[in-house]
Amino acid sequence: MTLDSLHFDNAWSRLPEDFFTAVAPTPWRGTRLLDISPLGAAQLGLDVESIECDRLEALMAGREALPGMTPIAQKYTGHQFGSYNPALGDGRGLLLGEAMTADGPVDLHLKGAGQTPYSRFGDGRAVLRSSIREYLAGEAMSGLGIPTTTALAVAVNEERVMRERVEPGATLLRLAPSHARFGHFEWLYQRRKVEDMRTLAWHLIHRHYPELADGEAPFEALFADVVERTATLIAAWQAYGFVHAVMNTDNMSMLGLTLDYGPFAFMERFQPSWTPNHTDAGGRYAFDQQPGVALWNLTVLAQSLTPLIDVERLREIIDGFEPILQQAYAERMRARLGLAVEEEDDASLASAWLSLLARHQVDFHNAFRALDDYRGGREGRERLATLLEITPDDETLGAWLDSYDKRLERETRSASDRQRAMHAVNPRYVLRTHLAQRVIEAAEAGDSAPLKRFRERLAAPFAAHDDGGEDWFTPPPPSAPPVCLSCSS
Ligand code: AMP
Ligand code: MG
Ligand code: MG
Repeated sequence: MTLDSLHFDNAWSRLPEDFFTAVAPTPWRGTRLLDISPLGAAQLGLDVESIECDRLEALMAGREALPGMTPIAQKYTGHQFGSYNPALGDGRGLLLGEAMTADGPVDLHLKGAGQTPYSRFGDGRAVLRSSIREYLAGEAMSGLGIPTTTALAVAVNEERVMRERVEPGATLLRLAPSHARFGHFEWLYQRRKVEDMRTLAWHLIHRHYPELADGEAPFEALFADVVERTATLIAAWQAYGFVHAVMNTDNMSMLGLTLDYGPFAFMERFQPSWTPNHTDAGGRYAFDQQPGVALWNLTVLAQSLTPLIDVERLREIIDGFEPILQQAYAERMRARLGLAVEEEDDASLASAWLSLLARHQVDFHNAFRALDDYRGGREGRERLATLLEITPDDETLGAWLDSYDKRLERETRSASDRQRAMHAVNPRYVLRTHLAQRVIEAAEAGDSAPLKRFRERLAAPFAAHDDGGEDWFTPPPPSAPPVCLSCSS
């Protein structure tokens, strides 16, 4: 299978005209492929080795399309930081085509493809640092088993782009079964386009939820599925310390994928009210706000669906959000704490663990990884305390370990089975901002080898790789200045 053998069926471009505008990419000068993702290739049913680099480079430069592609900019709107903005849409990305693979449709979306009618004041371009961050995010989330958009490849261009500084321009070839967003429905609702909304709902059902088509109330079932997927997605974010940081409704996926990586970050020293986005001074999208914001966003979607679904039913379905999230979160946390048996008090054990991490500002990821090897006893406690950088006689740690020890006694698995299971859910490699920054600086200086090495580790984050003396896991030193992240890149 080569790129040219992909078969496209561009259903979105057959939807009514207010769903999109046909736009050709604006070609870039001097495009150079930096990395191709085996994961992205597999999603398209391709092998990295069979992908013709020249062909992919031309595609990512916006110079050539593949047979069957019909590039469009999708129109959507959304609530940004709580306010409705009707002027949104693909402003710097184009849906090039929808590939039909053995596992279903896959959108090929070129981010950084140039201006569209929805670019407003933007240049339609993307920069290297944010493209690399998004590329690695797709790998890291996939590695952790968290639903996400992914990417086939990332490329850098000779052409430079003006942001806070002049920097290398880049393109990312993003993949997803669909880029349908809450904001697509908001757009139709605001314009009272009820027939078009029905068309869109049926489009999603036929293409992505065919099992719902013959049910009694397919639109209700569709909404219930979005609620469920969103709840389990947010549960996974919370369990792994992921902060999206721009949870506007236009960045919410109808398929429950993590969508639109901007100033996102994984938590390091644990602070529940933290956000990496320095333009979000009020902390609207801070880590501990994410469940509530997701619910708020689902309410906006529900309101948009009122022409199709009875209000009472919408309310009942939304009421399912919190219990689904709680249960999914509890499952993830139980696994991370090494608990195979299910007990009622597990939620309080998990939240006491997190309070402990917050109180001592422990690194979120290393803390779980350290717990993998915990064996109890005085020595075990001292060793764990050292790894967590907490004094061994700390009372909160002691109290927590007392309950953890008791809880482990009621487990049926052997300690080594537990350790093995914990190693398979607590990652050694995490997309830490300063490590991404190291990769970005090397790529900006012309060396894309670190990008490939970090990508490999993030895609398989649990087992130790042969790091050959390189450090791909240590948190930044406390003295390191924070990397400044904003939405504007
Ligand atoms: P985001 O904050 O990434 O969700 O983007 C919000 C809106 O701004 C979307 O409609 C984007 O397409 C648009 N946008 C972001 N950056 C640019 C850019 N450089 N040029 C044109 N449009 C952009
Ligand atoms: Mg967006
Ligand atoms: Mg964005």
